[in-house]
Amino acid sequence: MSGRIHSIALVAHDNKKSELLEWASFNKGSLAPHRLYATGTTGTMLEYELGLHVHRFMSGPVGGDQQIGSKIAEGQIDMLIFFWDPLEPQPHDPDVKALLRISTVWNVPMACNVATADFIISSPLFTEGYERVIPDHGPRDWEDLRPGDAT
Ligand code: PGA
Repeated sequence: MSGRIHSIALVAHDNKKSELLEWASFNKGSLAPHRLYATGTTGTMLEYELGLHVHRFMSGPVGGDQQIGSKIAEGQIDMLIFFWDPLEPQPHDPDVKALLRISTVWNVPMACNVATADFIISSPLFTEGYERVIPDHGPRDWEDLRPGDAT
């Protein structure tokens, strides 16, 4: 992130969707210039609420969290707003933990509640630029596997 367009992923569990929608509406002007990504249901609701294009992955419980995690590992998402629900077990709890983990692995700024999201979006670093240190976890020049490649 350096005074450029951020790629921001937004995810909210069901009990947290209204909080995220309220936060995103309040901050619509700040979010609008950036590339927005979301899990399926969160993305549909955000598009409706904000009137902005949101790239939607699958719904969280059927793979959306993992899709976002893979984009983070590939360096294509540089910020995560993840309002997960700490009071209800989720069918995809392992995926939730994986997303929290991979964001930490790649030093991606991550807000898990409104207060942290407020700090991130109001930070001068959000608008003026910030060179995030990307940890050296080895080469990222893997080859995509296609059907038949491994046989
Ligand atoms: P959803 O997924 O946006 O499709 O509801 C969110 C989640 O549960 O991770």
